[in-house]
Amino acid sequence: MNQPKIPQATAKRLPLYYRFIKNLSLSGKQRVSSAELSEAVKVDSATIRRDFSYFGALGKKGYGYNVNYLLSFFRQTLDQDDLISVALIGVGNLGTAFLNYNFTKNNNTKIEIAFDVDESKIGTKISGVPIYHLDDMEKELPENVKLAILTVPSHVAQAVTDRLATTAIEGILNFTPARINVPEHIRIHHIDLAVELQTLVYFLKHYPK
Ligand code: ATP
Repeated sequence: MNQPKIPQATAKRLPLYYRFIKNLSLSGKQRVSSAELSEAVKVDSATIRRDFSYFGALGKKGYGYNVNYLLSFFRQTLDQDDLISVALIGVGNLGTAFLNYNFTKNNNTKIEIAFDVDESKIGTKISGVPIYHLDDMEKELPENVKLAILTVPSHVAQAVTDRLATTAIEGILNFTPARINVPEHIRIHHIDLAVELQTLVYFLKHYPK
């Protein structure tokens, strides 16, 4: 399939669409309307229609979209057939929660290996994931691991990132509040849970339902 370039905002909604379409397909449904999709994923139907037009999926009036077509498109676009191996750096409270969760509902994403500096954690496993010392990161990090989740204290986030930049890692999901600089070849996404909550509070106050 020749993949068109999709706008970033659309690309961010892909996993949401994918999860819903996968469930539809499992339940044996053959087609879905943009109204049904809109209700399920809470994205307005005009946005859905525009997003889907980038996928080459043109819904027909009175028919909707073909579920199997969408499913195979999403699977390919999101590389759902490949296993995504992830490393986790910083096995504190949040890091431990991630290791226990380990994307179990998402069977192609898996944290394979974790690193910390706390001697009491080194050599142990959490939910089957081995924890190594950060000093051994370059040695232990498998080549197939291209993503890292960062759950270290903020004050070490930049130093840890600088080391990650010398490995095969290409993407970092930063859960620390630190704003980190990365070299050109690395993509970094920031998830600051405190900021997200504050934003929600702001919206509740200024845009009440
Ligand atoms: P905890 O209760 O285990 O301290 P926490 O999430 O509140 O959890 P943080 O101080 O944020 O604690 O540290 C998170 C984890 O990062 C801890 O397990 C800590 O040992 C680890 N850590 C600290 N410095 C580094 C580092 N330089 N590299 C890797 N991990 C580190």
